Amino acid sequence: MPEIEERKGEGASPEMASRIADLREDLRKAKAQSKVDLAAEIRDMGFSCQGCGECCRGEDNSVLVFPQEIRAIEEATGLSWAEVAEPPQEGEWDTEGYFHTLEWRLAKVGEACRFYQGGVCAIYSVRPMLCRSYPFYLDRGKLMASECRGLGKKIDAQEAERLAETLIARQIIEIEEAIALLERYRDFPRGPPGERGIIVHDSEGEQRIGQARKQI
Ligand code: SF4
Repeated sequence: MPEIEERKGEGASPEMASRIADLREDLRKAKAQSKVDLAAEIRDMGFSCQGCGECCRGEDNSVLVFPQEIRAIEEATGLSWAEVAEPPQEGEWDTEGYFHTLEWRLAKVGEACRFYQGGVCAIYSVRPMLCRSYPFYLDRGKLMASECRGLGKKIDAQEAERLAETLIARQIIEIEEAIALLERYRDFPRGPPGERGIIVHDSEGEQRIGQARKQI
């Protein structure tokens, strides 16, 4: 895995002002969302984890993970940042040949999450919020669900409430992270694919990774 060379935060970009304002409004609504109502929706939809592990090892496995979550995993496992998380595949090059991408994903081995070991999650107590609330997510407050064989199964009230609480907390953190990212984001002139390295934009600024990214 590449070594992290640099982390720095810069001033907010004025072009992002309107998007940040929208996000602040989303944040206000997310904080006001009713846990009780959401838990009732989850009960109606139904869910019981079948322990199949498909969400941890399928080809679509791509777990968004935030800096504070990466640090918690680092602390629990003794692994380095670069061993816990990696940049996503999607992004664009700048004119100097750096590949720019947004936020982090849990590191993988092949198609599986690197922490899916022996059929279980090796970091269960510190797994990211996305994993804690799977297969559910909120789209501007609306309950949605990813494909999962556990959907439609009976769920008890306590578990539905726990999921509702986690989903609301996750949405709040996701919006706060997005605001912080935009406030620090510095746009760049686009260029052809190059081999200078990777720049990850996240809520704490920019991280440069000293390894060239091949064209995908
Ligand atoms: S962190 Fe754990 S729960 Fe999340 S994808 Fe990896 S193995 Fe699965």
